[in-house]
Amino acid sequence: MHKQAVMIFGTPGSGKGTQANLLEWTKGFYHFDSGKELRSILNDPSRQNEKLIQRERKLNEAGILNTPSWVLGIFKKEAKKIAKSGKSIVYSGSPRTMYEAFGDKKTLGLIATLEKSYGKENLHFFFMKIAPEIAAARNKIRRTCTVCTNPVLGDAPVTVCPNCMGELKIRKDDDPEKYKVRYNEYMTRTMPIVEALRSQGITITEINAEPAPPEIFANIKKALGF
Ligand SMILES: [Zn+2]
Repeated sequence: MHKQAVMIFGTPGSGKGTQANLLEWTKGFYHFDSGKELRSILNDPSRQNEKLIQRERKLNEAGILNTPSWVLGIFKKEAKKIAKSGKSIVYSGSPRTMYEAFGDKKTLGLIATLEKSYGKENLHFFFMKIAPEIAAARNKIRRTCTVCTNPVLGDAPVTVCPNCMGELKIRKDDDPEKYKVRYNEYMTRTMPIVEALRSQGITITEINAEPAPPEIFANIKKALGF
């Protein structure tokens, strides 16, 4: 089977991260978590003298979005590295903006970069369809491991992370007010990517994101030919 590049779109709370984790754990995909990737570069001890790293680290710590051109550059470099290593890749939280997805006149976007590395026919796009009130309710009770960042379903009867025994906490940006902000941000900044792909005639497989994760995962696997 050819190596695949998969992008999962969907509003916050639609379960993108869970599905990307399942692809990583059961099918050997590299789950590209943009927040985690950026933090690991910004906290790299060997790079703390670089002016650029200092600047971006300040932004990141203040909760301000990192410079888009810098972010896109990193995403593309990492994507090429992962493709070269022979792994399939899955994105659950990026691209977040039209610029990250498509670049501009001078800069190749992430999607075109993946087409080059994996082949256009091996790129797959999913959209996790869920009613906003269900996503919001799910988000409100979602807990995340404070150590390995593994998300745990809200009603799972566990008090520690099943992965690493770390402490579980409700994420700060999961409270209802902040959820609304993230939801609106997603609709205005990220949804245009889905619409642009559709208008280019690219297939985006819609997945019903309301059932339990294993059922959703079965549909994703089927669509990917597993
Ligand atoms: Zn954990």
